[in-house]
Amino acid sequence: MRMKVCPKCKSELPKKSFNQCARYADGLSWWCKGCNRKFSAEWYANNCNRQKSAAHSYRNANIEKVRESRAKYYQDHRDKIEAAKRAWYKKNPDFLNTYESGHRINLSDRYLKKLLRVFVPHGEIPPSLIEAKHLQLKTYRLIKEKMNEQHT
Ligand SMILES: [Zn+2]
Repeated sequence: MRMKVCPKCKSELPKKSFNQCARYADGLSWWCKGCNRKFSAEWYANNCNRQKSAAHSYRNANIEKVRESRAKYYQDHRDKIEAAKRAWYKKNPDFLNTYESGHRINLSDRYLKKLLRVFVPHGEIPPSLIEAKHLQLKTYRLIKEKMNEQHT
């Protein structure tokens, strides 16, 4: 008999409609070529979307969280942050130049990239984001310094 029934689509098909597959007793794959193709395409589409959306929602959830806590922190400490920024820029007029060179400040790109990996799990981290992180940490450190000064 040169025909075989595909259990997936229930069609009786000529054996050439099945892939060669040594694993099975008849030397033919379980499903017909058409079903195999369809199933792989569906599986790929489903898994691809699932991975994408999982990563997507994870990122979004974190971005929201960070944005919220950052905004709240800023609201609660606005005067101090702004005053500290102004004072710091006054004291460090050449900040943007030293910043450009990177190495003169302890917050190296490598360190910042590691921190930013949480928000950018895959691919290149944009340089603008590294710069922003740098400025943020610098500001936080300065605020902490100022607060310590006030307490002593
Ligand atoms: Zn089939």
